[in-house]
Amino acid sequence: MNMISIVDKLYRWRIDEAVKKLESKLDNEFYVTDLIYCPLKYRYQKMYKELTISSAINPTTLLGELTHYGVEKILIDLFGPENVKLEVDYEKGIEVDGVLYIVKGRIDAIIGDWVIEVKTSRSDISIPQNHHVMQTRIYLWLTGFNKALLLYITSNRVAEYIVDKPASDGEIADLLRSTITGAPAPRYPWECRYCTYSTLCPYKKSVES
Ligand code: SF4
Repeated sequence: MNMISIVDKLYRWRIDEAVKKLESKLDNEFYVTDLIYCPLKYRYQKMYKELTISSAINPTTLLGELTHYGVEKILIDLFGPENVKLEVDYEKGIEVDGVLYIVKGRIDAIIGDWVIEVKTSRSDISIPQNHHVMQTRIYLWLTGFNKALLLYITSNRVAEYIVDKPASDGEIADLLRSTITGAPAPRYPWECRYCTYSTLCPYKKSVES
């Protein structure tokens, strides 16, 4: 066999996925993640596509992705393949101010009538984080299920939280309006520190570490 490079394969995989995701997105489509983070990121990801694509090979993101694969495989082993659905795509339309928008999301796993959302992080500080709870509540709105487990795998704690309040149509409409108008930006003060677009964003907030 000729020389192989796993780094090269991982790089190509992440870049190809990022390009596909960006190119397939229609103007009236929003991912659930667009609704929970800084609304300017939604705007910048289209304006500065090169930055968006290059952020896909961030090692922290890659580590999270690989952990997801591991957890999903274990869920299949523990609960049986017939009881677990993985990476399930959902979409739902909602009319806001006379315009139809589509909200799309990919659910990590569905076991019976439970939505499973997996989060990985180095630290367990402040878990469950507000934006993760909101993301999970949006998944409940999207799927029509009533309960979810928000599972954290961190370096010093593995913990799960029940989320059982689906987002309302009104909350989704407010998040869509905010994402479309680009305000408030950022949604959380810590976001700018990790933001791909912080090198050119005039609204970047510097917070003391
Ligand atoms: S730098 Fe801050 S305000 Fe600007 S896009 Fe990023 S998160 Fe939003």
